[in-house]
Amino acid sequence: MPYKPNFNLDSSVLGLTGVGPTTERKLQQLGIYSIGDLLFHLPVRYQNRTQTTRIGQLQEGREALIEGLIESKNISFGGRRSLTCRLSDTSGTAQLRFFHFSKQQFEALKLGYKLQCFGTPRKRKNNFEFIHPEYKIGTAFSAFPKVETLTPVYPLTEGIHQRKISGLISAALNLLANSKLESIELLPTSIRESFKLTNIVDSLRVIHSPPRKATSDIDQFILPHLRRLAFEELLTQKIYLNQERKNNSCWHAYRIPNTKLKEDFLGQLKFSLTTDQLKVVSEIEHDLDHVTPMNRLLQGDVGSGKTVVAGSICASVIGNGYKAALMAPTELLAEQHHKTLSTWFNPLKIDTLLLTGKLNSTEKKAIYKKINSDRPLILVGTHALFQKQAKFKRLGLIIIDEQHRFGVEQREALLNKSRSGNLHAHQLLMTATPIPRTLAMTAYSQLDISTLRHLPKGRKRVATHVIADTRRDKIVRRIGDVFRGGSQIYWVCPLIEKSKKLEKEAAKSIADKLSEVLPEMNVGLIHGKLSEQEKYDVMESFVNSRINLLVATTVIEVGVDVPDATLIVIENAEHLGLSQLHQLRGRVGRGDKEANCILLYQNPLSEIAKERLEIIRSTNDGFKIAELDLKLRGPGEFLGKRQSGIIQFKIANLTRDSHLIPEVNDAASQLRGLPEPTKELLINRWMMMSHLKSLSQKSNETD
Ligand code: ADP
Ligand code: MG
Repeated sequence: MPYKPNFNLDSSVLGLTGVGPTTERKLQQLGIYSIGDLLFHLPVRYQNRTQTTRIGQLQEGREALIEGLIESKNISFGGRRSLTCRLSDTSGTAQLRFFHFSKQQFEALKLGYKLQCFGTPRKRKNNFEFIHPEYKIGTAFSAFPKVETLTPVYPLTEGIHQRKISGLISAALNLLANSKLESIELLPTSIRESFKLTNIVDSLRVIHSPPRKATSDIDQFILPHLRRLAFEELLTQKIYLNQERKNNSCWHAYRIPNTKLKEDFLGQLKFSLTTDQLKVVSEIEHDLDHVTPMNRLLQGDVGSGKTVVAGSICASVIGNGYKAALMAPTELLAEQHHKTLSTWFNPLKIDTLLLTGKLNSTEKKAIYKKINSDRPLILVGTHALFQKQAKFKRLGLIIIDEQHRFGVEQREALLNKSRSGNLHAHQLLMTATPIPRTLAMTAYSQLDISTLRHLPKGRKRVATHVIADTRRDKIVRRIGDVFRGGSQIYWVCPLIEKSKKLEKEAAKSIADKLSEVLPEMNVGLIHGKLSEQEKYDVMESFVNSRINLLVATTVIEVGVDVPDATLIVIENAEHLGLSQLHQLRGRVGRGDKEANCILLYQNPLSEIAKERLEIIRSTNDGFKIAELDLKLRGPGEFLGKRQSGIIQFKIANLTRDSHLIPEVNDAASQLRGLPEPTKELLINRWMMMSHLKSLSQKSNETD
C-alpha cells in the first residue's frame, strides 16, 4: 500500500508515495494540502472508456475509444512537422497526428500491431483525425484490458497531469476503504435519514469511479451519490452564511445622508446620468443613510457606466466628512480610475490620491499620513490599500471594482482597515459579470443587488463577425486599413494548449508574423509569462498609442479603457466561454468611433459551437448572454463548474440543483445545534479556497 501508517484526514499529502516537495507545492495550487482535500477534489466530468467505438461509427467532436491495426506511419514536413499514423478496423480508417513527438515514439509504432486510442476525432477531408490522442500499443494479437468504470477528469494545474492526480486520489480512497480515515462523515444520521442522503464513504467512492451503468443517472443528475455531495456542499454554504450574518449583526456604519456636494458633483459632469444610473444611485444612497453597513453588489455590463455611479456616492461620503476608498485589481485600472475621479473631483477641491505598489517609500509615507488624518478624501489603489502600514481614519465607504478578481480574504482585509470600535465601512462591490438569478436568490441573499440594465444612450453597438480562420489574409488587410484610419487593434490568441509556456510561444509567433506583414505598425505582445511590471509597460504603451496592434493572450480581459481601439480579433473563439468573449469584446467600442469584433474559428465547427458563436454575434446584452450560456451547458456536460465570479462550487450547480434549496434550508435549520468544530470542518472541506488555506498556513508559520 502506498502510504505510511497513522494517516488521518488532516495528514499532509507528503506522506503519499510519489509526493515530494515539488508535487506538494503544485497540489497546493489546486487547494490540496491534506489527504482529505484529495478526497474532495472532485471530477468536473467523466470520460467513457468502457466501450470501444468502431471507426466507421465515429462522430465529429465526440470523445471515443477506438482499437485497430497500425497500417502506416509517416513524418511529414509540409507546414508544421508532424507524425501521422493510420489505424484501421474492419469498418474504416482513422488517422492519429502528433506535432510533438520523439524518435522512440515513431519507432514504437510497428506496422500490423494493435493500437488503442482515446480522444476527440475531427473531420479532415473524408477521414477522422485524432490530434495528440492518448494511446496504447499492444502486440499483433493481445487484447487490451477492459475498463469497467467511467474515467474521472479532474481540475488540473501546470505540472500535475490527470494520471498523477488520479493515482493520488486512488491512494486516498484506499486509505478510506481500509478505514484509516475516521470521522469523515460529518452529517448526523438523523439528517441523512430524513433527507435520504447516501453515506459519505460510498458517495466519494462512486463519484471518483462510477460504474458504467451510472452514466445516464449522472447525466440526469439523479445519481444519489452526486446528490449527497451537492447537498452537503449547499448545506455548508448555508451554514457559513448563517454564521456570517450572525457575526456581522454587531457591526454598525456611519450614517451618510444626502449632501449638496453630490449635487455639485452631478452638476459639473459633461453628461447627465441615465435613468438606470439614477435608480441605482438612489438604491445605494438609501443604504448609506442607515447605520446597518451596506453590503451591495452593483452589476452592470461592460461600458454601462459603473464608475460614475461610484463617483456620485463618493461625493456623498466626502460631503459628510468621511473618506472613500476604491480598489481595482491592476495598477493600470487603478491609474485610470484615479485619472477619471481626479477630473471630476479636482474642480470641487476634493483630494483624490493614488496608492499602488509602484510608489517609492517616501511617496507611500505621504499617503499613509493623509489617510490617517481627519480630512475627507478619495483614495484609489490596488492591493496596496490593505497593506499593513496603511491605517485609515474615518473610512466610510469601500468600493471594489471587478470584485471577482479579488479573493474573499482580500476584501475582508480591506474591510478590516475601516474598523474602529463597532464601526466599519459601507461596502459596494462592482462587477461586469452578471450573477445568475438563481444564485442571487439563494446563496447571496445577504448581498443586496443593484443592476445597470442599459448602456448610456448613443453608444454604438460593436459589430461582430464570425469568420473561418482560413480567411486570415483578408483580416490582415483589414487591420492595415483600420490602422491607417488612425485606430488601434487588439489581436487575442487564447491558447488551446494548457501550458503558459506554449501559450506564450503561440502568441509570440503570431506577433512576429503580424509585424512581418504589417511592417509599418508597431506590434506589442502581452502574455501571462510577463512580470507585472512588464505587463504594465506594454499596456501603458498601448494606452498611449505607442503600440498600434496589441497581440495578447486573455490577460487583457479586465476593464482597461483604450477609446481609440476599434477592432478586436479573437482567435479560437469557439474555445472561449460566452461571458469571456463578451468581456473581451467590451475592450472596443469605448470611444465614439464604429467598432468591430472578429471571431475567428477553426473548421469544422460543432453544432453547439456554431450556436454559441451565433449568440455572441447577434446580441450585445451581457445578461442575456450569461443566461443563454447557462442554458447551453447541457446537463452532464459539467458536474460542477465555476458559475460566477463570486463563488466556486466543487459539485453543486445552482441552476441545475435549485430544487434542492428548500430541503437544504430545512436541513440547515435542523442543524443549528451542530457542534462548532463540525461546522468548521464542513466549511474547511467545501469552502476554504486555496488562497485562503495558504494564507492561514502562512500565518501559522509566522506564529
Ligand atoms: P463600466 O461600467 O464598464 O466600468 P465605465 O464606467 O468605464 O463603464 O463607463 C464607460 C464610458 O461611458 C465612460 O467613458 C463614461 O464616461 C461613459 N458614461 C458613463 N455614464 C454615462 C452617461 N450617463 N452618459 C454618457 N456617457 C456615460
Ligand atoms: Mg469599469
